Amino acid sequence: MDDPTPSVDFRSGFVAVVGRPNVGKSTLINAWLKQPVAAVSPRPQTTRRRQLGILTLPKAQAILVDTPGVHRPHHKLGQALNRTAMDAVRDADVVLAVCDLSEPPTQEDHQVAEHLRALSPSTIVVALNKVDLVPPQLVAGRVTGFRKLFPAAAVLPISAANGAGLEELLALVVDRLPPGPAYYPEDAVTDTYERDLAGDLIRSAALGLLREEVPHSLAVQVDEYRERDSGSAYIAATLLVERESQKGIVIGKGGSMLKQIGSRARQEIEKLVERRVFLDLRVRVLPDWRDDPNALRRLGFAPPPPRRDGP
Ligand code: GDP
Ligand code: MG
Repeated sequence: MDDPTPSVDFRSGFVAVVGRPNVGKSTLINAWLKQPVAAVSPRPQTTRRRQLGILTLPKAQAILVDTPGVHRPHHKLGQALNRTAMDAVRDADVVLAVCDLSEPPTQEDHQVAEHLRALSPSTIVVALNKVDLVPPQLVAGRVTGFRKLFPAAAVLPISAANGAGLEELLALVVDRLPPGPAYYPEDAVTDTYERDLAGDLIRSAALGLLREEVPHSLAVQVDEYRERDSGSAYIAATLLVERESQKGIVIGKGGSMLKQIGSRARQEIEKLVERRVFLDLRVRVLPDWRDDPNALRRLGFAPPPPRRDGP
């Protein structure tokens, strides 16, 4: 006879990390993985694809899916981003909602909570990040405010930046994973192609160096990713912008900006792939690509849903 309450030897499953842009989702995943797997940027919307980070522990494997931020869409791209996030939620065993405790709940936090309302609260964990920025005497009040948004879910203040609460948070997540064997070998960190990660790191480097008007119009397409016999990698990529003027900004005087972007991106990619990287960057204008369903598809974004007439 089977034991009716078998002890669980191993748990495994998918964890969707959701929340509005800039709350620290990528920083949290990177802190857990201790490697730069998800692109981290001081500007919102660096992460535009679903990404997996795989966290293998002695008794569990959590496959983390980093999602684009939930926000109100202005462009078709915005719709595609929101939909990618919600697809990740539907496929997940556990949803980890990340909020920014350094300010009271915003309209967008309410939207996130609303999206999650249909799920069982026992599969939701809420991380209230950036507790390091909140004066200690205000923490309890802020936490209560967020608790009201996510009734019955597990809620924990943390700091992805200084590590506070990260172990406890992981325990809350792991407790909610279903029993099952590991999906991936224990030394795997990510199954997203290095190629996609390289694209994200290039974009991240560019956003770190460029000024306002370019960021949202910038996409990166990795044209070639080739291993060389010498144990190095050759990567060719195109930075896509929407206007000629932006192309000029990205290239910079005498190519100086593009050179800086390349150098910074190369260093980040080398850290990730642990070998020498030759990076070949070019810039191309693709007018209004953010509203062009074909371009979005080619760049790896889910196309916006077809327009429906009538109710
Ligand atoms: P995402 O858009 O949710 O993935 O956010 P990121 O991980 O890219 O982080 C956005 C910004 O918040 C970055 O500048 C991070 O350095 C910063 N940040 C993330 N976590 C913390 C934290 O716990 N404390 C502080 N002070 N800053 C943080
Ligand atoms: Mg991110």
